[in-house]
Amino acid sequence: MAEAYERLLAEIETMVADEVRPISAEHERTETYPLGLVRRVCEMGLPALVTGRPAVPHPTELFCMAIERLAEGWVALAESVHLQTLATCGVARHGTADQREQFLEDMQLGRTIAGNCLSEPDAGSDLSRIATVAELTGDTYRLNGVKTYVGHAGVAGLLNVYARTSGGGLGGITCFLVDADTPGVAVQPPEEKMGVRALPTAGVVLRDVEVPASRVVGRLNRGMIVARSFFVQGRLGIAACAVGLAQAALTHATAYARKRSQFDRPIIDFQGVSFLLADASVQIEAARQLLYRACREADTGGSQVEMLAAQAKVFATDTAMTVTTNAVQVLGARGYTGAEPVERWMREAKLFQIIEGTNQIQRAAIASRL
Ligand SMILES: Cc1cc2nc3c(=O)[nH]c(=O)nc-3n(C[C@H](O)[C@H](O)[C@H](O)COP(=O)(O)OP(=O)(O)OC[C@H]3O[C@@H](n4cnc5c(N)ncnc54)[C@H](O)[C@@H]3O)c2cc1C
Repeated sequence: MAEAYERLLAEIETMVADEVRPISAEHERTETYPLGLVRRVCEMGLPALVTGRPAVPHPTELFCMAIERLAEGWVALAESVHLQTLATCGVARHGTADQREQFLEDMQLGRTIAGNCLSEPDAGSDLSRIATVAELTGDTYRLNGVKTYVGHAGVAGLLNVYARTSGGGLGGITCFLVDADTPGVAVQPPEEKMGVRALPTAGVVLRDVEVPASRVVGRLNRGMIVARSFFVQGRLGIAACAVGLAQAALTHATAYARKRSQFDRPIIDFQGVSFLLADASVQIEAARQLLYRACREADTGGSQVEMLAAQAKVFATDTAMTVTTNAVQVLGARGYTGAEPVERWMREAKLFQIIEGTNQIQRAAIASRL
């Protein structure tokens, strides 16, 4: 492994142990966004690994290894850095020279927090139902519509808003870079979520929001090309979050099973418990290797990247769900209470089966390639 890999991963591991683990539970309880930590991780160069021109040989793999370690400490932090990276992809890969000059560095370094506004009340898995409209008058677009479940809403300064500029279907959608403080942009109160509460998710209402034509990202009516350019990264980043979370649950459940005694022996001596842990270790390692395989395909421009990224997303997130659920089982009553983090991790794992394309949508994509 290159020296740069080791340095970055060691830096993140130290940060997770010293600064992240001690505060994560309290931030989740108070629903406090960790802006300072997100910025620090961005300054370490994570978003730039996949949105810039990194000098390391396998930047996607390094990015996912780093996200995995962050998620092992705190999912909301890992997920926020992942989201920031996805929200930067549009400008990095499709932005004009002026847009890149004006926004890219601040986004990569987390000085400007950004979000992606794709989902709407009638457009979840089916983005062809996007109904937010953008009408051109002179050289200004006027945006009207409702966006739902926008990650970073309320803390983001910039929003990538996908709106309809022509016809129906997936064609006719355009991506706009909108300042969150533009008149007419109204961020709704944060959703009351099952988990990952420190990272705000909210609806965004757009009413006569004026956006200059110079803020179109990519080509007019080709916004889905912009969105598709980060779908693979979205799957890989969530798979990395899931592997890290599952690893945290296995480590915690194993330590507990060694120390908790019933019937005069540690519960890890019962096969009913130890086989849950053994299966978890198998599934996590398999998920991790599938993720790294998919990352290498991304880093080498391989033709199987979409298939592998979907497979890794499904397998890693289903693994995280199983492993965190079984971790609660291993901890018994304590696992079901807030005295231990495993109930929170179980709630957090559920998110990964839903976002960045639900696992059913991933399976449909895999099946269509078979
Ligand atoms: C915490 C959180 C953060 C989010 N962040 C963002 C964000 O930053 N930006 C953003 O734009 N969106 C975001 N989302 C929205 C997310 O992308 C959507 O939830 C997701 O795309 C699924 O859409 P939906 O929830 O409307 O489910 P639906 O599409 O209504 O699906 C409901 C169920 O039907 C299944 N289903 C639907 N179609 C099919 C099919 N063809 N075959 C089989 N099963 C199918 C789904 O798998 C699911 O189980 C976020 C969601 C959450 C919960």
